Amino acid sequence: MSTCDEDAVAEAFSCGICEDLLLEPTTLVCCGRSFCKGCLRLWIRTNAQNGGIPKCPGGCGQKVPYHLPKHSVALRSAMEQLLPSRLALRIKEAEQEEDELCAGGYKVWQEVAANRDVLYGNSLVVRQGTPGLILGDCADGVHVTVKFDEREDGSELCVNLTPDAVMAPLPGGFRLRQKVVALFDLLLTTDMKVPLGSVGVVIGSFSSDRVTVLFEDSSASSAAERAKPFPDFPVSVHTREISAQRPLVGGFSIAQKVQAAMPLMVGSQVVVQAGCRGTVLGEFSDSRLTIAFDTPEDGTQSCFNVMPMEILPWCESPAGYPTGASVLTTHHLMSQNVLIVQAGTRGVVLSGVDHSQVLVLFEGAPPLPIASTALQPLPSSDTLSEEAEAAQTNCSCSRRRIGSDEDTAVPEDRTSVTGDDICEDEDLSDAVRNADNVDRETAHTVQSPINCEGAGPTFVCNVD
Ligand SMILES: [Zn+2]
Ligand SMILES: [Zn+2]
Repeated sequence: MSTCDEDAVAEAFSCGICEDLLLEPTTLVCCGRSFCKGCLRLWIRTNAQNGGIPKCPGGCGQKVPYHLPKHSVALRSAMEQLLPSRLALRIKEAEQEEDELCAGGYKVWQEVAANRDVLYGNSLVVRQGTPGLILGDCADGVHVTVKFDEREDGSELCVNLTPDAVMAPLPGGFRLRQKVVALFDLLLTTDMKVPLGSVGVVIGSFSSDRVTVLFEDSSASSAAERAKPFPDFPVSVHTREISAQRPLVGGFSIAQKVQAAMPLMVGSQVVVQAGCRGTVLGEFSDSRLTIAFDTPEDGTQSCFNVMPMEILPWCESPAGYPTGASVLTTHHLMSQNVLIVQAGTRGVVLSGVDHSQVLVLFEGAPPLPIASTALQPLPSSDTLSEEAEAAQTNCSCSRRRIGSDEDTAVPEDRTSVTGDDICEDEDLSDAVRNADNVDRETAHTVQSPINCEGAGPTFVCNVD
């Protein structure tokens, strides 16, 4: 290629800001024009620090995002092919410009979070924990300019703060004051623990992979769990021991008491009977939950990955409908205009679903959640003796251990994390407040959960 041709090619690959060859070519979605990443950042910062909202340097009038897109690999490799020597020279020049540090030791464009609430007068401008980007030193040399992802007053302008008002982001992507839930029983000492499913608030970072959480004592804990005192002080937990509090697949939550809505099968073997109680341990995938089902004979639990339709919430049966009670349907039970159970059919209560529904087993049909208003209790002498007995012992989950060669994918952190890699932070000098390290009880490291298939069809039952 002649120098003249090369100039023409270089022109095509030039940045609209510095007019030199594109370095880390970044293409804006607003108008498709490309600029050097560094040039765009400088453009954004200059505009922001002059009190403006940065607009596209290509002149299209749109706002430029502070979080810039990844640089274009295609443009970069085209330049490497067509202008290898010019590009090499340009990169070498740029390397001499070192990473810029600003007040507080932060790097320009470093991701940070607000260390505390930022107020203008009496009004909250930035909430503690909000993520942001350091744009650079303020002209006064004391403050740094930060662009927060979100401002409480809706403004898109940057904020000038003293460096101590920002901090490095928390490990695990957690935010200050975020509500989190314990994914395991967290043992603090031999007689103090945070039970699985406890909800807490993130109050700080502890180390590169631990955060400090203040858990709330939940009245939902069973009597057995309350036997162990609950910590009223912040504890440090590994980021794998908690997750953001949110509904799981099917609207269930961590530690929720549930029951099998139908007999659960592995192959041709029923491993969990309908009505068997269990506890939600977590989400296995976007369609399955890991449940620890109770096996009352020896007090152990068997874990299975089930689909939301295979389980129902569990609660104590409503008054008048205890487990094993015989009932009579007072209405035809319909599902989408199809008669499922005739009025006057006898069934046996397996358990409660919520304050108004019970799980009922009818002869020749899968168990169905039925509103208690559609049922009439039968005198106990008038029981369907066999079914009632079956129901009373319905929690006879199979204790048969399924061979590990049959096991399907198991969440890594469910089985591979042992207590050994916890309590590793010996240097307590940088401890945040009086945080304690947490150890995990082995109660839930039950065999690798395997996927179950519900044995029966599911019905959505409307009371006629
Ligand atoms: Zn440029
Ligand atoms: Zn544009």
